[in-house]
Amino acid sequence: MKKVFLTGSTGIMGLEAVKRFAEHPDEIELYALARPGKKNEDKLAPYADKINIVWGDLTDFDLLTASMEDMDYVCHVGALLPPLADDFGAEATMRTNYGSTLAMLRGIKKFHQEEKTHFVYIGTVEEVGHRSPPMHWGRIGDPLQPPVYCYYALSKIASERAVAESGLKYWASVRQSFQNPSNPIAAEYPIIGMQPDDNCSEHIDCESSGNLMVEIVRNAPDEFWGNAYNLGGGEGFRFTNYDFIKALHGDFRKDFDPKWIATRNYHGHFFMDSDKLQELVPYRLKTPQQFLKDELMHQIKLIKAKGGPRLTPEQNKEQKKEILLKKGGTLYYLEQGDEEAIKVYYGSRELYEQIPESWDDIPVYVPDPNPTVMDHGYDETKPVSELGLEDMQKAAQFRGGKCLSESMNKGEMFLPLRWQCALGHEFEAKPNTILKLGHWCPECLTGEWDYFTQAKVNPYFAQGWDYLHSKEEPYTVKMECDAKAIEKLFEE
Ligand SMILES: [Zn+2]
Repeated sequence: MKKVFLTGSTGIMGLEAVKRFAEHPDEIELYALARPGKKNEDKLAPYADKINIVWGDLTDFDLLTASMEDMDYVCHVGALLPPLADDFGAEATMRTNYGSTLAMLRGIKKFHQEEKTHFVYIGTVEEVGHRSPPMHWGRIGDPLQPPVYCYYALSKIASERAVAESGLKYWASVRQSFQNPSNPIAAEYPIIGMQPDDNCSEHIDCESSGNLMVEIVRNAPDEFWGNAYNLGGGEGFRFTNYDFIKALHGDFRKDFDPKWIATRNYHGHFFMDSDKLQELVPYRLKTPQQFLKDELMHQIKLIKAKGGPRLTPEQNKEQKKEILLKKGGTLYYLEQGDEEAIKVYYGSRELYEQIPESWDDIPVYVPDPNPTVMDHGYDETKPVSELGLEDMQKAAQFRGGKCLSESMNKGEMFLPLRWQCALGHEFEAKPNTILKLGHWCPECLTGEWDYFTQAKVNPYFAQGWDYLHSKEEPYTVKMECDAKAIEKLFEE
C-alpha cells in the first residue's frame, strides 16, 4: 500500500485526483486534507468510504507537519490563488502557500523520511510571468519573473525552491498552466481585464491534471524525480486569449475596449517542453476537440445556472466595464490616477495613451509557430555528467553574478554550491536549481519588485524583460510580505 497525502482535495484539480485515487483502494491509502464545512463534506461524500479525510487547512502548520509521518507520497496541490488570493491579501497568500510547503518539508525531516517520501509540488506558469509575442514560447529553465503584485507567484517560486533544495531524494515540481474549467468566480473579478488578447497560453483539463497525480504515484519512473515540468496539453491546446474565446464561440473584442485591457504583467506562454511530462508519465485524457467541447458545455451550464434574461452585447460590455471599475481593475487604477499601477499594467501613461481606441486598428495576432529560444547561459548540448565548475561560473556570469565555490565534481547537480548575484547577495543553491529550474538569487525576490535594476545587471533576466520594457521609466514596487517573513515563522 502506498500512503498518499493530498492537499487541495476539494479544489478543481484536487477533487479530480481524489476521484481517481479512490479507484485504487487496494493500492493507495489516500489522506485528503480538506477544510471543515458542509460544502466540502458534500464534495467528498461519494469517496468517503474509500479515502481518509484529514480535516484542517493549509495554515495549520502543526497538523501538516504531523501528517507527514509514514507518508510515501505528498501531492501538494492546494493553494490560495488569484483572484481570491487578492482578497485575502499578501500575508495570507504567502503563509498559506509557502508556509504549508515548509511545514510539510519540516515534517518529512522530523520523521527522517528524506529517502522515503516523494514530494510532488504543484507550481504555476505564473512563476515565469508575462511573455508577450515574440517571446510567447518558453521552457523550464527560463528566468523566473513573477508578475508585480502577485503574491501567489512569489509563494510558488519560494515553495518550488524550498522543495528543490530540501535534500529529499524524490521530489518534482509540476507547473500548472491554464486549467479548464477555471474557477467561475474569476469571471466576476477585475482579473478579466488583465489578460491581453494576444496572450498565449497552453491549456489543460482538470481531469488530466488530477489523473497526473495518480499516474505519478502509481507509475512515475526514476528519471521523473528531481526536476520541474510544464503541465500543458501540447499542440492543439495552445491558444491566444482571443482565439480561445473564439473557439468557444465568443468574441473577446466585443466585450472590452482596447484601452481597458492591460498590456503587461500577466502570465502565460506556449510550452516547448510540455510533451516531456506526457512521455515520462502518460496522463493526458482528452483530444483538443473533446477538450473544447467539454469546456463549451461547461460554460453553457454556467450561463443556464445563472438564469436571468439574456444580455444584449451592449449590456454585456457594460457589465464588464463595471467589473473593471472595481478595486484592482484597470479602469479603477486609471480613474484613481494610480501612476504606479498604470506603469505596471501598461508600461507608462504615454504607452497607455498610444493604445488605439478601436480594435480595427489592432490586427489580430497570429502566433509565430517558431519558438524564440532563451539562452540559459551554459552549453546545453553537453551531457549533464560533463557539467563542471567552469559551466557554473559561465552560467553565474550570464546572470550577472559569480559562482563562489572553488570546486565541483563534474555532473554533481544536486550538491549545493555558493553563489553571488550582481547586487552582492550571497546564497547557496544546487546547480540543478539554478541551471535547470531557472531560480537565481532568493534575496532579489524579497522586499520589492525591482525588475529594471535586475534587467540592467543580469542578462539572463533581461531576456524576459527588456524587449517589452526598455523604453519605460524604471519603477520599483514594495512588497507587503515576502518569503523571508514566512521563513521566520519556521526558525527554531
Ligand atoms: Zn540578489
